[in-house]
Amino acid sequence: MSMQTNPIHHKRPHLPFGDQRDAPWYGQDILSVKQFSRDDLEYIFDVAHEMRVMVQRVGTFDLLKGKILASLFYEPSTRTSSSFTSAMERLGGSVIPINEVRYSSISKGESLPDTVRTLECYADVIVLRHPEVGASALAAKYARKPIINAGDGVGEHPTQALLDLFTVVEELGRVDGLTVTMLGDLKYGRTVHSLARLLSLFHVDLNYVSPDILRMPPEIIEELNVKGVPQAEHGSLEAVLPETDVLYVTRVQKERFENLEDYDRVKDAFVIDAGTMRRAKERMIVMHPLPRVNEISMDVDDDPRAAYFRQMEYGLYVRMALLAMVLGKA
Ligand code: ASP
Repeated sequence: MSMQTNPIHHKRPHLPFGDQRDAPWYGQDILSVKQFSRDDLEYIFDVAHEMRVMVQRVGTFDLLKGKILASLFYEPSTRTSSSFTSAMERLGGSVIPINEVRYSSISKGESLPDTVRTLECYADVIVLRHPEVGASALAAKYARKPIINAGDGVGEHPTQALLDLFTVVEELGRVDGLTVTMLGDLKYGRTVHSLARLLSLFHVDLNYVSPDILRMPPEIIEELNVKGVPQAEHGSLEAVLPETDVLYVTRVQKERFENLEDYDRVKDAFVIDAGTMRRAKERMIVMHPLPRVNEISMDVDDDPRAAYFRQMEYGLYVRMALLAMVLGKA
């Protein structure tokens, strides 16, 4: 396995799925959204769409029968860990779950390279969530089996960004030409870091709305500037709401704050409620990687534009697609 980005950008091969060991993603790591081209996204979303159809038609099928996923989470997770487990099991595979690292040898001081070299003796692919930026890249350097980054601290969350974009495609039918407004904790929210980078492959207008201390990191703004992406920062949602096609709301990431007084000052800076929705476009969507705290009031949940629960379901199909791809079955 190599840490290189995927050098081959095939159009989607014909399904039904066969054992395609020469498949372009076979054995690849998924570490950062920077490794994807638009063609790659088209391929992933085609496979994810097939997964959606298959799950709705038959529920579970045997594409990854006999394959084992090691699910290694050093940070809390509900959706990411359970959707990867569900994805693997819906494809007929099985899972070694390591969520409580305090009960594993990690609490004895085992290093990340040693832990992944252990798990790959028993599993075919490793999904890793870790509090440190770059942890997945480090794991990938030592592992022969594919590593999938399920969030590395404030760094990236590439599978979330893929499912976010898949949600936009399935819900709005396109990405080019959209105005995407990211709201909330843009400093520590790794999902918006990955999503902004992924959106830079498209013709979109990006708005960043956040408290001053939680602005999008300058290096990401600069990275997108170089690519010519129109970006604007705002302290309030009002001016950009009427033109917004995708409102991407994030939680203020309490666990990343050194000073909890700072957290208390900004935690409820933005709350989307039914009143906000009255000022939004008729055809738009509200997304959230979840969990939410107070950022979206429950009175928005029944609005057809509230896409955040559907977004979770799209995550299952994208993660099924990724597992099938890196295991050479798509
Ligand atoms: N679940 C997402 C993540 O792991 C978002 C969040 O925690 O706020 O980054």
